[in-house]
Amino acid sequence: MRRPMVSSRVVVWSLALLPGLLALPFLWPGLDQSREVLNALGRVTGIWGLSMLLMAAALCCRVPGFDRPFGGLTKLWQLHHRLGAIAFLLLLAHPLLLAFAAAGTSLDAAIGTLFSTQPASVWGWVALLALMAFMAPSFGFFGEPEYQRWKWLHRLSGVTVILALLHTGLLSRTLPGWLAWGVWTTLALLALSALSYRWLYARWRGRSPYRVTRVAHPARDVVELTLAPERQRLCYRAGQFVYLTPDRVGQAGHREEHPYTLSSAPDEPDLRVAIKDLGDASHAMLSIPEGTRLWVEGPYGDFFPDAPSRPELWIAGGIGVTPFLGRVREAVRAGRPLQVHLIDCVQDETRFLFADELKAAFEHWPDSRLTVHYFYREGPLNRAFIERVCPDVAERAVYVCGPLPLLERARSALDSSGVPARRIVTEEFVLL
Ligand SMILES: Cc1cc2nc3c(=O)[nH]c(=O)nc-3n(C[C@H](O)[C@H](O)[C@H](O)COP(=O)(O)OP(=O)(O)OC[C@H]3O[C@@H](n4cnc5c(N)ncnc54)[C@H](O)[C@@H]3O)c2cc1C
Repeated sequence: MRRPMVSSRVVVWSLALLPGLLALPFLWPGLDQSREVLNALGRVTGIWGLSMLLMAAALCCRVPGFDRPFGGLTKLWQLHHRLGAIAFLLLLAHPLLLAFAAAGTSLDAAIGTLFSTQPASVWGWVALLALMAFMAPSFGFFGEPEYQRWKWLHRLSGVTVILALLHTGLLSRTLPGWLAWGVWTTLALLALSALSYRWLYARWRGRSPYRVTRVAHPARDVVELTLAPERQRLCYRAGQFVYLTPDRVGQAGHREEHPYTLSSAPDEPDLRVAIKDLGDASHAMLSIPEGTRLWVEGPYGDFFPDAPSRPELWIAGGIGVTPFLGRVREAVRAGRPLQVHLIDCVQDETRFLFADELKAAFEHWPDSRLTVHYFYREGPLNRAFIERVCPDVAERAVYVCGPLPLLERARSALDSSGVPARRIVTEEFVLL
């Protein structure tokens, strides 16, 4: 059964909303003029903006296993992004609302509120500018962000959070001193622990060294690497993924971490990852020599349930076959047939990855079926195709993995075939 994700989200949103809710009783009395209403809104947007920023920071810790109650790291990241985006909008509104409130007294008061020379006020502006600088690429203001540059820029979030806390501690009088101290210290400690884990502990102790012991090329632009542990072996579940950081000085992707799904069965002594050339770092992996050292961090993800409760339909797109391959290899090694239907969406016959291995496994499983959807013959995946090859689709739990356009097509086809959204689980191979 899939674990409920609702309670973990409720905890996060409750913590993010708590400071603003605690402030409401102190803001409520005396809200009889529009100026006071604007002032109260200005204060509460500042409080919620900061609490959401701190919760967004707390969610970036990437402790293996912490992501599972949220439905995996991709879903946890989406929550992190949502909190960050709402915090950004609230913090933009915060000074403007305070200035509008002051404009009820005089224009000078409004300008004085916006451009006060008090250090705490200046720190507030610097925090907001730093926030704009690191959030702009996330909003895609300058087109698709270049991942590594965007990640470096994201470190400005540390400056933002520290300055915003100083600004609030020195200027805000909405919450009584002891309550403000308790609330902001708790949230700041959560954020600090998460950032310390991510940037200090995970970097030095949270990664395990592995060596490339075998390099295979299932297609021209795909490589499957076998990685042997130098120290302890990673424990993981089929379909989970890891961050790989190669130790290849002078090569593209050196010291860059990238997420790749484990295509091996969890009880294999070594790890396997299948990598498609999608950019400079993944391209460099195609020519990686045996013996190269790589750092492995993880495992992450919560794609498959602990115990399947109904027959499954798997939809894979191209290299998105990797989590399914892990499940197939696990079942083959355990001699335990699966009850699944795999629709593998590929461009043409040359792009049908791991074809022999998949065909051999499915041939031995009477209750399973393998269908290959060739794009050049069938066009994009659609409802008619799915219902033709899998007439009982509406009764199944569906797992989809691949590029975003396939995910979107599959979701809309499954929706019109009557598969409820709660029975569709997706894993996107996109920027996190
Ligand atoms: C959960 C998950 C599992 C994945 N599993 C596999 C797999 O099994 N096999 C495989 O070939 N690919 C997998 N990917 C995709 C793989 O991470 C990217 O192809 C790789 O990071 C591209 O890096 P690059 O520098 O070569 O390409 P770039 O030129 O930097 O980017 C090419 C594309 O990859 C995306 N990308 C770049 N860096 C990252 C990153 N750190 N995280 C996520 N996306 C990124 C970019 O947005 C762009 O769309 C997975 C991605 C995710 C999120």
